[in-house]
Amino acid sequence: MRRIAVAKGDGIGPEIMDAVLKIFYEAKVPLEYVNVDMGKWVFDKGYNTGMTPEAKQTIETVGILFKGPMETPKGKGVKSINVTARKTWNTYANTRNFQTLHGVDTVFSKAGIPIDITVVRENIEDTYGGIEHMITNDVAISRRIITRPGSLQVIKYAFEMARRKKARRITCAHKANIMKITDGLFLEVFQEVAKDYPDLKADDVIVDDLCMKLVTKPDTFDVIVLTNLQGDIVSDLCAGLIGGLGFAPSANIGDHICIFEAVHGTAPDIAGKNIANPTALLLSGIGMLRHLGLMQSATMIENALLYTLEQGVHTGDFGNKAIPPVDTTQFAEAIISNFGKQPEQGAKPPAENAPATETKFALDKNIMLESKETAPENIIGVDFFIESDEQPAEIANKCLRHGGVKFRLINISNRGTQVWPTGSVYTTLVNQYNVRFESIDDTPLKQQDILGLYVSLSGDFKICSSELLLMLGDKRAYSLAQGQ
Ligand code: NAD
Repeated sequence: MRRIAVAKGDGIGPEIMDAVLKIFYEAKVPLEYVNVDMGKWVFDKGYNTGMTPEAKQTIETVGILFKGPMETPKGKGVKSINVTARKTWNTYANTRNFQTLHGVDTVFSKAGIPIDITVVRENIEDTYGGIEHMITNDVAISRRIITRPGSLQVIKYAFEMARRKKARRITCAHKANIMKITDGLFLEVFQEVAKDYPDLKADDVIVDDLCMKLVTKPDTFDVIVLTNLQGDIVSDLCAGLIGGLGFAPSANIGDHICIFEAVHGTAPDIAGKNIANPTALLLSGIGMLRHLGLMQSATMIENALLYTLEQGVHTGDFGNKAIPPVDTTQFAEAIISNFGKQPEQGAKPPAENAPATETKFALDKNIMLESKETAPENIIGVDFFIESDEQPAEIANKCLRHGGVKFRLINISNRGTQVWPTGSVYTTLVNQYNVRFESIDDTPLKQQDILGLYVSLSGDFKICSSELLLMLGDKRAYSLAQGQ
């Protein structure tokens, strides 16, 4: 018996989790469940991470968390427990499968267009660091963190998964045309990893173009890998293609701990009525069984689910309106009564149990992800983000006094658009500028040089933040302003 942690969650969570665990129980799935305390009611008890220390310890011991949706209390300044759990345990790959389900009518199923898309979303980085500041009364900024080793972890996982899935194609979606450094890094890592998988057709697409193509030609995509926020949006779009959030399972995969959950939330509007659709959580659970090597149980339950959907059995959120809906409990019972039956379409072939995906639980220190080969690094300048409501020329006049013998003022920009030495009077300003200084003769600078300039400039301006301008080898490691 393999032990797993179960957190039923909030809202419809307990109803759909009970339905799924009943199906597992009747299918004699060899799992032992340890209930852990997580969710809104745990926040309400005063635990500001939304989980008790005992829950954390259990999950770190058993390595698998099967969870229902959870609500984050609003207005208390606490962070989402769902995001915290994914990040704390480095579940770096969020994998979501979107497949045509017969019995779930969509415009595509009616047109005979089959969908089988797996979205792999980076799960730790990007704007989900939630590192945000108001740096003037008017200006809020968010740090978007994309790292080389973080991208490598998720992209390697996506390629391995695509190979196992026998995928026709793996696509990296991005916005590297605009975010050349961050999304550019993600794309670069994708292209490097692709060289190790010559058997897979690997290509890339700009994320807005992807959205249009997903809606017009969804059957041309197979595995898609994206950064966190873009992946979040694209995966909900894909859920819409196959019938909605009620059918979208998800797995958060890490090297030590994995979390399996539905994509949807706590559905407060229907909570407590026993009418929620448990399919997404059941499909997530089936994915968990496969991850644990329990292929026979997974196949039997999935075929029973597909057969049940084909028969037109449905909860109120989908299906043929001419057939009365069943409630959550009845839906689970229908699946149980269909154990051993094969759906006409999309039946899963018999599969032998396999060893569980290996995980190493006992860590005695935090893992440091670091690239082995690094380019030589030189500081060649600095960006100061200053608060000012003056005109660009006035700011330039003040800044020019501070350059000294080491720095020259390169340019001044506002919201990313250059406004000095050249620019347009039609560029509308806010009270926060970026003033860029570089080394006067391109000789590398020291941190002390930057601090000297910082102290000098702070006599004239409030400096909200600063960034070093680096050269990594012969590569410029910072963006240019629009118009520079
Ligand atoms: P939601 O997914 O809970 O609901 C959106 C709509 O879909 C609602 O009309 C709901 O009734 C319906 N719906 C969702 N799941 C359904 C199901 N299984 N069966 C039938 N209908 C279903 O999204 P929301 O209303 O934006 O969020 C509600 C709460 O859930 C928020 O507190 C949010 O933070 C949380 N949330 C949690 C998770 C998670 O735990 N991973 C994910 C998303 C949202």
